[in-house]
Amino acid sequence: MMHFVGAGAPSPVAVPSRLDAFVASQQFDRPTLVMDLDRVEQQYNALQSGLGHARIHYAVKANPAREIIARLVELGSHFDAASKGEISLCLEEGARPQDISFGNTVKRASDVAWAHQQGITLFAADAQEELEKIAENAPGASVYIRLIVEASQADWPLTRKFGCDRDTAMALLGYAKELGLNPVGFSFHVGSQTRRAKMWVPMLNVMAEIWRAAHAAGHAVSVLNIGGGFPAFYGEAIDAPEIYARQVIDLVTERFGDKVQVMAEPGRGMVAEAGVIVAEVMLVSRKSDRDMHRWVYLDIGRFSGLAETEGEAIRYQFETPRDGEPMGPCVMAGPSCDSADVLYEKRPVHLPMTLKAGDRVLIRNTGAYTSTYSSVCFNGFPPLDVVVI
Ligand SMILES: *Cc1c(COP(=O)(O)O)cnc(C)c1O
Repeated sequence: MMHFVGAGAPSPVAVPSRLDAFVASQQFDRPTLVMDLDRVEQQYNALQSGLGHARIHYAVKANPAREIIARLVELGSHFDAASKGEISLCLEEGARPQDISFGNTVKRASDVAWAHQQGITLFAADAQEELEKIAENAPGASVYIRLIVEASQADWPLTRKFGCDRDTAMALLGYAKELGLNPVGFSFHVGSQTRRAKMWVPMLNVMAEIWRAAHAAGHAVSVLNIGGGFPAFYGEAIDAPEIYARQVIDLVTERFGDKVQVMAEPGRGMVAEAGVIVAEVMLVSRKSDRDMHRWVYLDIGRFSGLAETEGEAIRYQFETPRDGEPMGPCVMAGPSCDSADVLYEKRPVHLPMTLKAGDRVLIRNTGAYTSTYSSVCFNGFPPLDVVVI
């Protein structure tokens, strides 16, 4: 008997991506994030092309896999590091100290001293005490002051905890000078997963006003650190990275002119779409005959990589080998014995009705904020494994 291409066979035109081809050829005995380095490189090039002269400082916390840092060093990226651990990692992978900013506004004094010894010269601050810490442990360093973002339209806002208001920021510029530091400018973060470039407008308007006020007060600020916020595709339409980045830069140039030195710190936008998690269904059940929704328990949950399902904020895309069969809603949960380990319930996920224990589940575009958020081994479930290809 001869078999021709039929239902279920891969279409001859759709060439599987490098990632898909690798995943299809492998067995995994635990939840695994597979990252494609070439895809990271593509993303870096697209972002840099859209960002023009702006300097990219990759936000290491999004995915600190060594291979990713090494590839980005090769490509000429700079880095935004939040801790001694992240700085060490970047240095070990070949980044130069002058290409790393210590961007956390909450730093241990001994880590500031250590970073200074390593040659790091650029630090973030949003409080007096932090400036004092930097002046004492990294005398003469350059600092930028982080502004608070009041009304973020992001899916994962980074407001409230970070930044200070305008008057405080102005006072901090003066105080930094008094302490012998070099206050070079400002930073902010519009919030992670800001889906549209136009959502940056309110914050950029506020920043432009502060920028003018700083100059009027005699502070020759020259650096504008626009942070991250560059989105990934999680099912809702977004612009391609190059287009999005160019739109943001156009908005910046309209307000700040083209003399300003712009730093951008993409994390999610750099790595999310370069990764896929391979997981498995552990159980499909109903609580009663009348239960509207099935419960689908995966071998990965809130504590082993999917932390951003908190508040159902980030909605991942799931793929199974049974896609194409009749679909139905389900509550999706992780494997641990903790009732907070429910991923999606308010807005149920639609999955094939025939799904059963043992089926493979691919979770798309999960290269950011997954492996880094994974617990050591909560409840004996293995942390997310990472394979870089
Ligand atoms: C987390 C973080 C980023 C990265 O944000 P994304 O939205 O992932 O691009 C950038 N800058 C700072 C200071 C951050 O804390």
